[in-house]
Amino acid sequence: MAKITLDNLAHSYLPNPGSEDDFALKELNHDWNDGEAYALLGSSGCGKSTLLNIISGLLRPSHGRVLFDGQDVTDQATAERNIAQVFQFPVVYDTMSVRDNLAFPLRNRGLPADEIRKRVQKVGAMIGMEAELNRKARGLTADAKQKISLGRGMVREDVNALLFDEPLTVIDPHMKWELRTQLKKLHQDFGHTMIYVTHDQTEALTFADKVVVMYDGRVVQIGTPQELFERPAHTFVGYFIGSPGMNVFDAQLSGAEARIGDTVVPLPGTYAATTGKVQLGVRPEFTRLSAGGEGLPVTIRRIEDVGRHKILRLDWQGQEVNALLPEGTPVPAGADRITFDPEGINLYENDWRISPQGRREAA
Ligand code: ADP
Ligand code: MG
Repeated sequence: MAKITLDNLAHSYLPNPGSEDDFALKELNHDWNDGEAYALLGSSGCGKSTLLNIISGLLRPSHGRVLFDGQDVTDQATAERNIAQVFQFPVVYDTMSVRDNLAFPLRNRGLPADEIRKRVQKVGAMIGMEAELNRKARGLTADAKQKISLGRGMVREDVNALLFDEPLTVIDPHMKWELRTQLKKLHQDFGHTMIYVTHDQTEALTFADKVVVMYDGRVVQIGTPQELFERPAHTFVGYFIGSPGMNVFDAQLSGAEARIGDTVVPLPGTYAATTGKVQLGVRPEFTRLSAGGEGLPVTIRRIEDVGRHKILRLDWQGQEVNALLPEGTPVPAGADRITFDPEGINLYENDWRISPQGRREAA
């Protein structure tokens, strides 16, 4: 197991990159702590696989260095880095049995037969294929083959890190939950450094201690699920995480007040003067609906009952705004205003969160 350091890392697939737009991965400096479980979350094309493949050694970064426990591995191949990687689609040896597929990485390392047998049996159970260990991989469904790929990734105990690139894409939905639970258990049992790539926030938030959110080739925030919820460092994190995501309003800032349209919103602190585009973000969980009085004037478009709470779809001057209402709480009669819980308010300048002291917070 190892601490992984990304040192001034950036990658362009172009031979002579000019502007920032030419970089699939913008400059990044970060330590991935030894033994921690990370999720790498972002929409398709944002650079997740590029980053993962650089860490595993499948791709050499055009700029910067990768270090394992302080040692430069930038020019080392995947095998030398001692990493297990599982991809989105199955990679199995069709002519081998399920058992031999699982045993392959262990035989490669020259483990004693007895140890291999025990470990394969255990992993076979973890992926739910104990009964099929002696079958040939050929003819199995894509789903079963992907489970074998996962098992091969999980079988070695001595790896520096375990990397998963959207490994559950072809897996049946109810099996996904089971396999994710097994991965978590594997992490608890062995404490490997794990990086799990996904575009699914639920997967990321349930799997990881820390979530690394990427947007357009950039890491915009690294935080616990709670930090991403309470203090999104970038408006993208606000939109992308939560369902529905954070409400974002264009605003003008003046000390301890923001103005949204004609409405003055008191802020939880005093902010320094800004020069960029200012926005106020507030999650639906902190948005309250009332009749008359203070607040932004809204009309109710639609109410969706999702069980635990109701989602109120509101309209403010043509912009959709969402609020949550706990189950059992009635919609106030004549409701036409929203106000915000001060602790739920975040302010953004050019999409990056600013804190009440006016300091831009690092991602
Ligand atoms: P993700 O895994 O988040 O979907 P990728 O890392 O695969 O994103 O891709 C990031 C960007 O780099 C995309 O714009 C993609 O088109 C581009 N890209 C990925 N692989 C290559 C490649 N081999 N050659 C050129 N461009 C690539
Ligand atoms: Mg990808």
